[in-house]
Amino acid sequence: MTKEQRESTAISIANWISENQVTLVNLTQDLVRIPSISGEEYEVQKRVHKELGRMDLNPEMFNPDDKKLRSHKDFFETTSFIKYGYEDRPNVGGILKGTGDGRSICLSGHVDVVSPEPLNKWTRNPWSGDVVDGNIHGRGAGDMKAGVAAMIFAVRALQENDISLKGDVQIETTIEEEDGGVGGVLYMRTIRPKTDAAFVPEPTNLEITVASAGVMYFRVTTLGVPAHAATAHFGVNAAQKMIPIMEAIQKLHEMRQATISYSFAESDPKMKGKATTINIGVIRAGDWPSTVPGSCSIECRIGFPPGESREEVMLQVENAVRNAAEADEWLRENPPIVDWFGWKARPHELDPNNEFVQLVKQNVKDIAGREPMFVGGSAGLDTRFFVHNGVPAMTCGPLAERIHSFDEVVDIQTIVMTSQVIAKTLINWCGI
Ligand SMILES: [Zn+2]
Repeated sequence: MTKEQRESTAISIANWISENQVTLVNLTQDLVRIPSISGEEYEVQKRVHKELGRMDLNPEMFNPDDKKLRSHKDFFETTSFIKYGYEDRPNVGGILKGTGDGRSICLSGHVDVVSPEPLNKWTRNPWSGDVVDGNIHGRGAGDMKAGVAAMIFAVRALQENDISLKGDVQIETTIEEEDGGVGGVLYMRTIRPKTDAAFVPEPTNLEITVASAGVMYFRVTTLGVPAHAATAHFGVNAAQKMIPIMEAIQKLHEMRQATISYSFAESDPKMKGKATTINIGVIRAGDWPSTVPGSCSIECRIGFPPGESREEVMLQVENAVRNAAEADEWLRENPPIVDWFGWKARPHELDPNNEFVQLVKQNVKDIAGREPMFVGGSAGLDTRFFVHNGVPAMTCGPLAERIHSFDEVVDIQTIVMTSQVIAKTLINWCGI
């Protein structure tokens, strides 16, 4: 088939998607209405499984096997694994078989969402899936149930129009991306066929993400001596002993921001100089005001763009804590404990000149009428598991607002465009 014929097929498929967008919106709403906080993905996966079954894509459910995963260099125990294990937390995989001789692709999206807390901030039920002013509202609407619906609908558009692809399309919906994706995309890489490319429709407002951050969690614990508050001088206040540690972490954060830069992470002017961050996310000490707390802990996330290894970053944090402790007599004798838990992801980057990335870029330009930017490197993405495995992969998806916050919404027009971009990518990458 000539390039012109492929082009006209892509246009007619894009028109079909646009004309049938109600079905795409309804599928997104259906998915949003099934709560699926990381660890509780079963019900929504059942819904996806049913959808892929109707489309004759031979869907299967794959429960992660942590024993098999443990020896992998990118394995870590995710916080939802620690809380729920991997029982009844399936990934779903289906396949649209090609006629042969074409390049294969994987369409991959996560179905887990973050907690909607604090609930009292939401103006609507976070699981409503209501359509308001051209947006679908709800936790996970943008991140990333709209993307999941868009990729399924792109395949359906080809089927309904009797277009056969040459290459195979793997369709997978995965668990626990928000937690690190170990039981999700990483596990699927160990059991599913390797494809020639992967398309992940995370919400990017149709920009193209070619990199992700390394992300790690660490906890620092200081120990004190409990006492009655009236005789506090008989004790040692572990919370107060945390103050110089927190100051040292803040200084490290500022020093890193001043010295580390990464162009894809800073393509948005508001991100200038913010390619790396250390966030103190949790502080815990004591249980009531009349006792001197005997221990205090803080939990932090460090994010870093490509360029540093996990080991280098860990050493920097541990040194900063140790140096701060050296300056305090009590902390010198009773050194704070640093432990690493949860997220332990390596960063990744893909050359934007990669053929697949360039193809998607052209498709976004054709569908959306504007040139996408290359972005990425400030947040973790499970796309890294494809790239580390030698598969070119990027994220490109709809416009979402307030993801991980209250009143999350996703813009319907860009869901439609995402589905059109994916369909066009399938036609041009896999061949027809
Ligand atoms: Zn996401």
